[in-house]
Amino acid sequence: VMASMAHLQKEKLRLQEELLELQEKLAAQENNELSLSLQLQGQVETLKEKLLEQAQEISRLRSELGGTDAEKHRDLLAAENERLRQEMKALEGELQRQQQAPCRDCPHLQENAELQEQLSQLQREAEETRARLVELDLEVQQKTNRLAEVELRLKDSLAERAEEEERLSRRLRDSQETIASLKSQPQQIKYIIKTVEVESAKVKQALCETQSRNQYLQEQVGMQKQVLKEMEQQLQSSQKTEAQLRAQIMMYEAELERAHGQMLEEMQAMEDEKNHAIEEAFSRAQVEMKAVHENLAGVRTNLLTLQPALRTLTHDYNSLKRQVRDFPLLLQETLRSARAEISQAIEEVQSTNRELLRKYRRELQLRKKCHNELVRLKGNIRVFGRVRPITKEDGEGPEAANAVTFDADDDAVLHLLHKGKQVSFELDKVFPPQASQEEVFQEVQALVTSCIDGYNVCIFAYGQTGAGKTYTMEGTAANPGINQRALQLLFSEVRGKAADWDYTITVSAAEIYNEALRDLLGKEPQEKLEIKLCPDGSGQLYVPGLTEFRVQSVEDINKVFEFGHIKRVTECTNLNEHSSRSHALLIVTVRGLDRSTGLRTTGKLNLVDLAGSERVGRSGAEGSRLREAQHINKSLSALGDVIYALRSRQGHVPFRNSKLTYLLQDSLSGDSKTLMMVQVSPAEKNTSETLCSLKFAERVRSVELGPVSRKAELGSWPSQEHLEGDSPGSSAPAGRGHASPSPGQLSSRSASIRRKLHTSG
Ligand code: ADP
Ligand code: MG
Repeated sequence: VMASMAHLQKEKLRLQEELLELQEKLAAQENNELSLSLQLQGQVETLKEKLLEQAQEISRLRSELGGTDAEKHRDLLAAENERLRQEMKALEGELQRQQQAPCRDCPHLQENAELQEQLSQLQREAEETRARLVELDLEVQQKTNRLAEVELRLKDSLAERAEEEERLSRRLRDSQETIASLKSQPQQIKYIIKTVEVESAKVKQALCETQSRNQYLQEQVGMQKQVLKEMEQQLQSSQKTEAQLRAQIMMYEAELERAHGQMLEEMQAMEDEKNHAIEEAFSRAQVEMKAVHENLAGVRTNLLTLQPALRTLTHDYNSLKRQVRDFPLLLQETLRSARAEISQAIEEVQSTNRELLRKYRRELQLRKKCHNELVRLKGNIRVFGRVRPITKEDGEGPEAANAVTFDADDDAVLHLLHKGKQVSFELDKVFPPQASQEEVFQEVQALVTSCIDGYNVCIFAYGQTGAGKTYTMEGTAANPGINQRALQLLFSEVRGKAADWDYTITVSAAEIYNEALRDLLGKEPQEKLEIKLCPDGSGQLYVPGLTEFRVQSVEDINKVFEFGHIKRVTECTNLNEHSSRSHALLIVTVRGLDRSTGLRTTGKLNLVDLAGSERVGRSGAEGSRLREAQHINKSLSALGDVIYALRSRQGHVPFRNSKLTYLLQDSLSGDSKTLMMVQVSPAEKNTSETLCSLKFAERVRSVELGPVSRKAELGSWPSQEHLEGDSPGSSAPAGRGHASPSPGQLSSRSASIRRKLHTSG
């Protein structure tokens, strides 16, 4: 505490010194200002003097001259005077201002204020310390006071005790004296008695008297003895009291001692306390000191650590500055590289794209090839048979009996009971009467689809009138045939590919009657159309003037069909008759454009409802009927020839032998696919025609493919005329179903032999 007080005293002294210094400074400042103001006042004084002088001069001049010149001079002087007065006023104002606001922005003032504040703070601190010191002093004073009090009390009690002792001893002494005096008294009396007795009788009276007196005295002695006894008792009690008092004294002494000890202890404790307080204060001061030292050390280390941090910060700042300076360049660089990267990436993506496109094209090609191969494996020219159910028109009785049966294990075989004999035929597939339009279409579907890929497809319905050709191709409104289903399929397929392909589907409808081609959708149906070679030298054929309708939905085709029908109905008196004598063609063209590759495809789907294949009896036929029959014969035989030539891969295919084959030339040759749907009636009465149709079908089908077929002789197709000439029975053995043990094992050699047999007979 002393040290801290000394320290504070020192601090206070230092601050006082500082304060003194500051006050001195302030005084100097004030002196300065005073001198400045004095200076200014001096200036003012001089100015005033000057003014006075001027005035005197004026008066002098006025007295001297008194004229106008003097007046002028006076005026001049008056102006001068005025000016000077103004100047003086301004200076006075400045002086005043100076005095009012002495050095408003003097740095010392601020410093002074700060120092004064500091001083006041320090003074406050000193005050506090002083107050604390006074408190401590007070505490010490109180403690000493208490000590003095205790000592005083002790002294008092000691004095009291001594007094009491004294009193008691005095009393004891008194009592002893009394006892002594009392002891000496009886000896005197005995002596007197003896003397009296010696004086004897004479004094007997006296003795008596004396005796009485003695008695009395004895009584007195007794009394005295009693008194003595009493006294002794009293002494005893006194002694007891004394002992008691002694004990009490002892006790008091002990108490005194104890109090003394206590006091000493207390003093010791207080001493200890004091020491402890001092120690505590010292240790606290040390701790504080230590903390201050630590703080100082911390601050120092902080400062030390801050210096490198500052250095790194400066360094960072500099590098950042540099970076900022370099940033635009860097940015440009980065942008350039990013641009390069992006363009490179784009290039890469483009190349990948190209690669993908190439692969896609290759895959497309492959798929097409595979599909084509599949169709080719199934046969580019396929022959199906369809047997219609027995209808009411077939009538009743044995004539309407069923003559056609099927093989349960093989759906490509059918048996015909003709004149008591069963003839078997094998085609690519046979549809029994219960086969639905849908089932039939399922088999045709693949062909229709390949049309989208750009292949030409022909589907023919062949058979005698009433065998179900129109039913298969057109169907009924409730149960549509291949025509409508094919178009529907095309629409849905095209829609499915719409993401990549643009497709346009157009339809034309035509009729070939008596070798004349007519447009069923045209404005003038009677006009005969010609088939011509394309002038571009591609070898393609086209029909100038054939109407093409673009169709986009089922409603569109329905409209087209209706339109065609109406045409046909209005043109002909007997539609059934007419239709059985003419070939009806529905030509669907699918043109596609692959938006990604730019690839263009064109596929044609020819759906042909052929004229009735029934033979017209030679006798019954004449005139136009005969001509019709001859035309039909010719065109159907030509179709047979063409298909035969195609299937046997002959060098020459006689397309030009009929309008129908000529028109369908590009849809029958090359990669084109052909389906011949041979329609037959199962009725007993039709077996002869059925036989003919099935024979036609089997002949078309039995043409072998491959190199051997190519070499096959160019035999002529058995014409309808020829067939007509043959009796059904005689041509029956030629049916392969009879001869061949198993259609699958048929060798090309045996086939060629059989063909020879055919042609020969
Ligand atoms: P075509 O066209 O060959 O002369 P149609 O298609 O006009 O023969 O058929 C003659 C009759 O037989 C029609 O009344 C037709 O409805 C019916 N018909 C043909 N095939 C079937 C079949 N598969 N199922 C039901 N009826 C059929
Ligand atoms: Mg028909």
